[in-house]
Amino acid sequence: MDYAYTLIKSKRKTISLEVREDGLIVRAPNRTTKREADEFVKKHEAWILKKRGQLAARKAMEHSVPRLSEQERRKLAALAKAVIPQRVAHYARLMGVRYGKVTLRCQKTRWGSCSAKKNLNFNILLMLTPPEVVDSVVVHELCHLLEMNHSARFYEQVYAVYPEYDRWNRWLKENGNLIMARAGYR
Ligand SMILES: [Zn+2]
Repeated sequence: MDYAYTLIKSKRKTISLEVREDGLIVRAPNRTTKREADEFVKKHEAWILKKRGQLAARKAMEHSVPRLSEQERRKLAALAKAVIPQRVAHYARLMGVRYGKVTLRCQKTRWGSCSAKKNLNFNILLMLTPPEVVDSVVVHELCHLLEMNHSARFYEQVYAVYPEYDRWNRWLKENGNLIMARAGYR
């Protein structure tokens, strides 16, 4: 097994591992020695191999996902136009915020964004996710009208408007790649 890894030391209290496409990351407390980190990695070899397998399988699946046809794309765009601006208006009213234009695109890398000019942008591929995911992304972007960052205060706003946010954000993290793969860039 390949024991190469990137060691990131910080004020944290425990060691953790993250298996990524570009390598293995070990996060450890400042006092951790190279040898301790090595041992930790070695001890978790089976887990690392399993994770690498899962990652490779997911990657392969993303490659085999059928791309959207032009017709499907048009359908999703029409659906998004009927659904998203209305959800934006609903939550904006609830939150008492004003926004600029709402743009809908078929995007390969993001679900939504909010510009400094208060214009909002959403991915039409959201129409392939549950309605709760659509709402959680809408609320996320609307909260950027109040906080242009991902600070604790930003998430306070998000949770206040959409208490189930974490659950649906996790859904998107777990399933989003496969859906975005349909846009055809992988
Ligand atoms: Zn954000």
